[in-house]
Amino acid sequence: MSDVLRELYQSVILDHSKKPRNFRAPEDASHHAEGFNPLCGDKVEIFVRLEDDVVADAAFQGSGCAISTASASLMTEAVRGKSRQEVEALFRRFRDVVTGASDGAPPLGKLEVLAGVRAFPMRVKCATLAWHALAAALDKPGERVSTE
Ligand code: ZN
Repeated sequence: MSDVLRELYQSVILDHSKKPRNFRAPEDASHHAEGFNPLCGDKVEIFVRLEDDVVADAAFQGSGCAISTASASLMTEAVRGKSRQEVEALFRRFRDVVTGASDGAPPLGKLEVLAGVRAFPMRVKCATLAWHALAAALDKPGERVSTE
């Protein structure tokens, strides 16, 4: 990765961690779940509103490190308008990219900014926490998931 790209990615992560998008707890959410990453102390609660099995709204609340907050923020933007199956497929691809299991094809769009965590195994759980909580929300609403 070039230094210019690395700096761009870091600035996007910083922006989303300082000004997280969709940081709220919508009362009309149809699904929600909590996630906890004991390794880092990250906590996240995910709220989703499904309409005809499509994500009409996604939001989160919680506290955690810059990576976990930025990842949750980027995720809520990325899944909006996607079907449950598309969200599951995106999660699998995202997880493969941040764990280094995949070289990133097909491209992940804006989520690509988190690909750098693959060099820091401790950080992978920060980046995937919100996704695990989202998967739990869609699968077993109300569940509390831990990354361990
Ligand atoms: Zn973290």
